[in-house]
Amino acid sequence: MTDAERAENIMRFIYALRSKGVTDANVLRAMERIDRAVFMRGVFAERAYEDTPLPIACGQTISQPSVVALMTEALEVTPRAKVLEVGTGSGYQAAILSQLARRVYTVERHRTLVAEARAAFAKLDLSNITCLAADGSFGLPDQAPFDRILVTAAAEDPPGPLMQQLRVGGIMVVPVGQSDHVQSLIKVRRLEKGYDYEELRPVRFVPLLEGMARD
Ligand code: SAH
Repeated sequence: MTDAERAENIMRFIYALRSKGVTDANVLRAMERIDRAVFMRGVFAERAYEDTPLPIACGQTISQPSVVALMTEALEVTPRAKVLEVGTGSGYQAAILSQLARRVYTVERHRTLVAEARAAFAKLDLSNITCLAADGSFGLPDQAPFDRILVTAAAEDPPGPLMQQLRVGGIMVVPVGQSDHVQSLIKVRRLEKGYDYEELRPVRFVPLLEGMARD
C-alpha cells in the first residue's frame, strides 16, 4: 500500500466511524493517529481499515473499530487518568487509550499476545502503556485504584475485584452477559456510596476466562 493509498484509507475509516455515531473529536483524532494495520498480521492487515472485527493470534479477535471508538467515548477518559484495560488482544484498544490518558495498564491471559502487543507499542513509540501477562479478572491490585477500567471480554457480572479497584468517581465499561449470546455494554460509575449502572448497547465479545492460557 502506498502512503497516498493509506491516507485515503484512513480518511474513509474516520468517515465510517462518524457515520456510526462517533462524535468525540479526541477519540476520532486518536483513531486517525494509530494505524490499526500495525496490530494485525498477514492477509488480515490489508483489511485493517474495514469496520469489522478480524482474527488475531491465539484464536482471538481484534474488535470492530466503531465498537472500540464507542467504548472509548463511553469511558470518558481524561488526560490525567490512570486506565486499566482487561483483554489486551492485539493491543489496538490500549493504543487508542494511550492517546487520551496519562498511563494505561493492559493485561492479557495469552503470553503470545502480550509479546506481540508489546512489539506493536514499541514500533509506534507508545511509552505510556504497561502490558502484562495476567488473569485480568483480579485486576492489578498493586496499581489500584484506577480512574477508568475497560473490559474487552464479556463477564457474567462485572468482576468484584475490578469494582473494588475503581476509584470513587471512576468509570468502568464492561460487556456483561453469557458468552455466545448478545451481551450488554454496561457503564458503571463508582459513587461515594455504591455504584450507578447504565446499559449502553448490545455488543458481542469473547468470554472473560479464568486463569492464564497455555500459549
Ligand atoms: N482489546 C482487544 C480485543 C479484545 S479480545 C484489542 O484491541 O484487540 C478479548 C481478549 O481478552 C482476548 O485476547 C482474551 O484472551 C482476553 N481475555 C479473556 N479473559 C481474560 C482474562 N481473564 N484476563 C486477561 N485477558 C483475558
